[in-house]
Amino acid sequence: MACDPGGPLQNPYRLKQFHFHWGGKGCQGSEHTVNGKTYASELHLVHWNAARYKSFGEAASAPDGLAVLGVFLETGDEHRGLHKITDALYMVKFKGSGVDFKGFNPACLLPYSLKYWTYPGSLTTPPLHESVTWIVLKEPISVSEKQMAKFRMVLFTEEEEDKKRMENNFRPPQPLKGRKHRFCMKFCSSAFAQCELRLQTRLNCAPVNQGTVNQGDA
Ligand SMILES: [Zn+2]
Repeated sequence: MACDPGGPLQNPYRLKQFHFHWGGKGCQGSEHTVNGKTYASELHLVHWNAARYKSFGEAASAPDGLAVLGVFLETGDEHRGLHKITDALYMVKFKGSGVDFKGFNPACLLPYSLKYWTYPGSLTTPPLHESVTWIVLKEPISVSEKQMAKFRMVLFTEEEEDKKRMENNFRPPQPLKGRKHRFCMKFCSSAFAQCELRLQTRLNCAPVNQGTVNQGDA
């Protein structure tokens, strides 16, 4: 993520992973609300301050360590950039599954306008360090009901267990201890520099070389 002169970040931040939160149906699923309005889903792109800290772990407990870019997903037209993800979800349907993921550029998930709200906050999952600069984009991206249905097909459970759908994995108004993000995409280290570059120069959309899609904690 590039630093915006006059914006909240003093350094460029490097993308570590991104993940989605969503609800079971309708437009409840975002972690942030806008004047009480909720969205079907919310994308979080988790970045860390690689200019000041040696590792993501070190940055995660520092006040200026992390920056999370939040993007709302509103149901409507299908999102072409999201297809690569939603079409791969069946491969990570079960807990513990993973798949290699190539040629995906997360910058294609950003809306046209990059206007944002920003506030200092914490991670929404334990250990809840007060280390996150939240940057929430005002303009949502669109996602079709069909695409949302593919998110809702993902399970919390392993193949041999009784099915439990992964939904409502957004933070409730009162955070529950132990609640974790359940779906994330982690990029292997060789892709970091490129992710960072892509996010800085989002108009020159080009694919990231390689990444891994995992079901797991974020
Ligand atoms: Zn999140």
